[in-house]
Amino acid sequence: MKEAIACIEDEDLFKMQIDLKANNGNILQKLIDERLKAIENQKRQFCAVCSTDLQGKGNTFTLMFGPDDFRRKGSFCEVDCLEYFMQNHVKKLRKEINQ
Ligand SMILES: [Zn+2]
Repeated sequence: MKEAIACIEDEDLFKMQIDLKANNGNILQKLIDERLKAIENQKRQFCAVCSTDLQGKGNTFTLMFGPDDFRRKGSFCEVDCLEYFMQNHVKKLRKEINQ
C-alpha cells in the first residue's frame, strides 16, 4: 500500500486526501470495490482447456474455484471444456485430499 501511494502524483494525492477527509475513506473503499468487481467480471482471454480465444465470443462459461483465500477463475469456450476441466479438477482435488 505504501508503494502504491508513492506512485500517485502529488496533485492526485492531494485530491485523494480531500476526498478521504470528506467521506471518511468511503471513496477509496468504493474505488477499490469497483476495481475488484471489474476484475471479477473480466472475461478471461483464452479457454482454460483448449486455449480458444474467447474475446468476441458471445457465450462463454466462467467458473470460480479454490479455497476462500485463493479464489481462482477459469473461462471456457464450450460446456464440453467446462465439463472436462471440472472432472479433472475434482480428480486432482480427490488425490490431494487422499494424500
Ligand atoms: Zn475450450
